[in-house]
Amino acid sequence: MATSSTADVIRIHSHGGPEQMKFETIDLSPPDAGQVQLRQTAVGLNFIDVYTRTGLYPGPTPAVLGVEAAGVIEAVGEGVEGLKVGDRVVYNGLPGSYASRRNAPAEKMVLIPDAVSDEDAAAVFLKGLTVWMLTFEIRRIQPGETIVVWAAAGGVGSILVPWANAQGARVIGVVSTPEKAELATAYGCWETILAGEDVAARVKQLNGGKGVPVVYDSVGKTSAEASLKSLAPRGWFITYGNASGPADPIAPARLNQGGSLIMTRPGLFHFTHQRADLERGAAALWGAMRSGAVKADVRQRFALKDAAEAHRALEGRKTIGATILKP
Ligand code: NDP
Repeated sequence: MATSSTADVIRIHSHGGPEQMKFETIDLSPPDAGQVQLRQTAVGLNFIDVYTRTGLYPGPTPAVLGVEAAGVIEAVGEGVEGLKVGDRVVYNGLPGSYASRRNAPAEKMVLIPDAVSDEDAAAVFLKGLTVWMLTFEIRRIQPGETIVVWAAAGGVGSILVPWANAQGARVIGVVSTPEKAELATAYGCWETILAGEDVAARVKQLNGGKGVPVVYDSVGKTSAEASLKSLAPRGWFITYGNASGPADPIAPARLNQGGSLIMTRPGLFHFTHQRADLERGAAALWGAMRSGAVKADVRQRFALKDAAEAHRALEGRKTIGATILKP
């Protein structure tokens, strides 16, 4: 049984810039019933952490940032079944992950396969389940179709591009620099477009004069209109992020003008809050890693105490692939 102890965390006391992120030590009580206590070995950095910090996604303060981590179970609360001390687990969607240790609901824990390191698990779990949501749950990729992926060299992009490829898609990636274009090509993009170009015109030029059946848009404000213009009639505008700010409102008539377009704004939580769905998504992700379709690509590592620096890099479009915070 664990005794009361402490944890190092990154906490905000009010919303704002990275300077609000404070490295603090807090008390940690033993796990309650239904909880496990984790020693966290790798924390996943996600753009959603920026939205939480700025208050774009509202929440109370003070708050420990972060929603994803991998670690080792140190103690198990009453009534927890199927998990034991020493198990390696990963989770996402649980606020408070920027921490060296924490208590968390056992029902959110997923065992990490032996072949996957803690760091790789923290690099792919949220981002990989997002790709599962996008390409299996919302709309299945049709083999041979051409699709557009924004931020193709980023964290989600590093998984979406190869996994969509493995499902038979031909991927056009949109990125901001030639260096990122090179990396997006290494991930499996058939063609890349620089974000400063006329994206819709280039998409159609590359695709034989036609629009594409689906655009995966995580950029939001600055990309939405180009995404809509890139679509073929009855195409899918899957707008799933706000890296450049929230997209402006889109009138239903705009979807009609574009050719009976379909628009959705998904959030991963709605696809994984049932335990059976979480397990189904995790099984698909681990399977894709086993087959080699998906690989973790950790390109940046920061000490947990330097999380503010990691946020500056992510917001400044300086990161590629996935980023890990090391407690
Ligand atoms: P990324 O590593 O992809 O980083 C964001 C990327 O967005 C940047 O690297 C940059 O790529 C691009 N970008 C374009 N415009 C801007 C801008 N003005 N400021 C900053 N970045 C910009 O982050 P993640 O992999 O963590 O997340 C990717 C996206 O997916 C995010 O929008 C996130 O919110 C979304 N997401 C949504 C989920 C959901 O459930 N709906 C779940 C998980 C992620 P470039 O320089 O090449 O343009």
